[in-house]
Amino acid sequence: MSNSSPPLNILKSHFGFDSFLPLQEEIITNVLSGRDSLVLLPTGGGKSLCYQLPAMCLPGLTLVVSPLIALMKDQVDALNSNGIPARFINSSLTSSEIELAQGEASRGQAKILYVAPERLAMPGFRHFLSNVELSLIAIDEAHCISEWGHEFRPDYRNLRQLRQAFPGVPAIALTATATWQVREDIVQQLGLQQGRVFLSSFNRANLTYSVQSKEGYWQKLLTLLGAHKGESAIIYAFSRRETEELAEDLNARGLKARPYHAGLDPETRRRTQEDFIRDRVPIIVATIAFGMGIDKPDIRLVAHHSLPKSLEGYYQETGRAGRDGLPSECVLFYSYADKAKQEYFIDQIEGRVEQENARLKLSRMVEFAEIPLCRRKNILGYFGEDWEEENCGSCDVCLAANDEIDATEIAQKVLSAVIRTGERFGALHVSKVLRGSREKRVLELGHDRLSVYGIAKDFSEAELREIVAHLQARALISRNEGEFATLSVSDKGKEFLQQRNKLSLPVLKSSAENRESSGKL
Ligand code: ADP
Ligand code: ZN
Repeated sequence: MSNSSPPLNILKSHFGFDSFLPLQEEIITNVLSGRDSLVLLPTGGGKSLCYQLPAMCLPGLTLVVSPLIALMKDQVDALNSNGIPARFINSSLTSSEIELAQGEASRGQAKILYVAPERLAMPGFRHFLSNVELSLIAIDEAHCISEWGHEFRPDYRNLRQLRQAFPGVPAIALTATATWQVREDIVQQLGLQQGRVFLSSFNRANLTYSVQSKEGYWQKLLTLLGAHKGESAIIYAFSRRETEELAEDLNARGLKARPYHAGLDPETRRRTQEDFIRDRVPIIVATIAFGMGIDKPDIRLVAHHSLPKSLEGYYQETGRAGRDGLPSECVLFYSYADKAKQEYFIDQIEGRVEQENARLKLSRMVEFAEIPLCRRKNILGYFGEDWEEENCGSCDVCLAANDEIDATEIAQKVLSAVIRTGERFGALHVSKVLRGSREKRVLELGHDRLSVYGIAKDFSEAELREIVAHLQARALISRNEGEFATLSVSDKGKEFLQQRNKLSLPVLKSSAENRESSGKL
């Protein structure tokens, strides 16, 4: 079987496809040659085929480890209806059903067996495994093995023993989200050293990204849903209660929405999922419990009502939009208060390392939301991918960049204010000084006597904040993290002031929003 290319006739006869998607052929060839593989393909990239097709060519059984118990039955039914003998074993089966499935698998009547990771630790299952001819071990959602990932499953650690018990059996680990840390962890935990890594671009060209301030949230959300009328949408909210309240508010507005979270009973959850997939309910308001493994191709909008914990979570959640390749939209509503809310939860995390880790992830997420850099470049950079294009043409930052204003004077004012206040304050205080605030702290510090006091009265706080973010994105200002973030002017910023350089910035979003909400134009 070595070096043979994957059989196209099976691709056609059992899966109904005429050609491979990018990387599928290379991956399948590697699997069939008996080597290990680590597959990092975005959602919708066609990962399942990379073990399902080899399963049909290999002599023995392909064992698929997956955390998606709720989907196993559907996956297996779909395979069976294509003439691929597959079975699953999980806690929903009776012991005689389990025995039946195991019997078929050991007699070669089933080629693919799906199991949940906890099964691997059960003596009965181990005994069964020792009596079958195992050809391939596939590990779906492989990032669950890593504590660095955002969906760590302790049961995934059982896979180490499985690998040790079957050292000669090749493994294929698959995931749609993995930073290099998670990647290293997967390789190490699964002992994939000799294996090959298959990495495709994580860019989702058909998705448009934007971040909006949460001010006037409700009106903005209604506008957004209006623009996607009759289409499927997911709104991710922070808490169970929020999902219920928001769904209720939307229903009161005549929009059909349903909440979804882990606190609902399994039957309600199943029905909600089903109604969404069958287009009976267009809007789901969910916690992140919703969506893992959801295979609905035509979700046109994924809105985040509050800030996600990490960029990989954000990437995965937004990745559920537009799996059919058609234009779809991802909108993140951001407010400072949401950041504080996440920080509060991070403070409760026990274990220093975990807490530090969570803090780091959140700060990257906040940076994504606050700093006006191309959203696409920002996301891809997080996954270690270089995005060369100057303007992606489909994120709010790039779209606004086509429309610029001269910001030289206000930039000089902001930089001067940062310097005059001693580079010891954050954006909020600096903007108060610039706006001539009479607040106690400003007066106590004597900042009302500075030459920069009140020199930018015609800018709102939101506008000044946005300008600071732009200056940060252009490396004129640096932000120093600590208990309180403080701003300082970089060497580049000092040079900008000394040489009286010009600066243009995109039209400020906060000004545009103000005009909209006050009805002026
Ligand atoms: P992933 O697990 O990477 O998110 P899936 O395995 O669910 O992706 O596949 C995504 C979609 O692509 C599915 O609808 C699948 O049927 C389809 N698909 C997979 N391989 C091919 C192919 N070679 N040609 C066309 N469509 C494919
Ligand atoms: Zn962009």
